[in-house]
Amino acid sequence: MSLQNPVFIPGPTNMPEELRKAADMPTIDHRSPLFGEILHPALAGVKKILKSDAAEIFVFPSTGTGGWETAITNTLSTGDKVLAARNGMFSHRWIDMCQRHALDVQIVETPWGQGLPADRYEEILTADTGHQIRAVLATHNETATGVKSDIGAVRAALDAAGHPALLLVDGVSSIASMDFRMDEWGVDIAVTGSQKGFMLPAGLAIVALSPKARAAIETANLPRTFFDIRDMAKGYSNNAYPYTPAVGLLNGLKLSTQMLLNEGLENVFARHHRIAEGVRRAVGAWGLDLCAASPDLYSDTVSAICTPDGFNATDIVTHAAEKYGVAYGVGLGEVAGKVFRIGHLGMLTDVLALSGVATAEMVMVDLGLDIQLGSGVAAAQDFYRNQSVQSLQAAA
Ligand SMILES: *Cc1c(COP(=O)(O)O)cnc(C)c1O
Repeated sequence: MSLQNPVFIPGPTNMPEELRKAADMPTIDHRSPLFGEILHPALAGVKKILKSDAAEIFVFPSTGTGGWETAITNTLSTGDKVLAARNGMFSHRWIDMCQRHALDVQIVETPWGQGLPADRYEEILTADTGHQIRAVLATHNETATGVKSDIGAVRAALDAAGHPALLLVDGVSSIASMDFRMDEWGVDIAVTGSQKGFMLPAGLAIVALSPKARAAIETANLPRTFFDIRDMAKGYSNNAYPYTPAVGLLNGLKLSTQMLLNEGLENVFARHHRIAEGVRRAVGAWGLDLCAASPDLYSDTVSAICTPDGFNATDIVTHAAEKYGVAYGVGLGEVAGKVFRIGHLGMLTDVLALSGVATAEMVMVDLGLDIQLGSGVAAAQDFYRNQSVQSLQAAA
């Protein structure tokens, strides 16, 4: 018997038994047609989840961070200017990576809890008449603050400015859980990893390139070897890799995409929205605020919850782990100690979410916060019991 509770960290996420089994397979020849039967359906599945006809998908043995590196090293050159907003730990880390690759990052400092400032992007891009800016970075879902940004609005800013910069999007904590429209939003590169919406162990960087991003590879001069898309593309054409692929994880990815598509993408997104909304109702009943500044920014995959001044939010995470064996996310960077995070993405149901809400409530009462046991649970219950469960039927 397992005494393992579900985790409520925003990745890695809980794993369905079928996906754990799919990743556990005997050795096969990774330069054989058998490997192609795993690789190609996995790539095709990812493409459908991104709602793209035009993208090419590449999967590296790495993580989301390696996906960022793939995106920038394949399309940019030393000294290139890129535009990025810093509104949380993940956008900060991507900026840091660009700087370490000798890119010239124009940073738009944005309060943590706010979304990407598409209007500022438009002003800056419009002023850049010489088109010095080669890429715009956008973090779709800032996992540190629970803020979802409007990527369509960033595309509209580029278009309004008539600017040809590439649009590079971090979708690590949104893709496969929240709606992502690669083609409609004119995304040039989308990046994710295996351990969040795809419900797999960590170990894959998943990167999608538009034809425009593909073309940029030919002139980009940043050094790259392991992450060179050209080598990977050559490998794929022979049902192979330029090196040894993570075959079991790719087999898991093939099955994961099938599971998500069988549930129905819109059902997957609706399930995440419903679960998230129940958690938000609980937060409201506790009398606490989300870090996300307004409802249009609320993330359906993670809620960052502000604790009262003078209270160390990290104590919640420590106490939950020690006393109840349940994992929540700590605050990162600027919001360290000020927020704790409930991850609600991946393999989750309303019922599992209730256990996360209930446990958080016990922890906060244990730690002396002025919260009534059952208040958040009741608010979430009240919400869930009045919602339809179509997606359960579709998944069955
Ligand atoms: C988790 C996460 C990352 C980092 O991904 P790793 O797989 O840990 O390298 C990057 N961006 C966002 C938004 C994330 O949530």
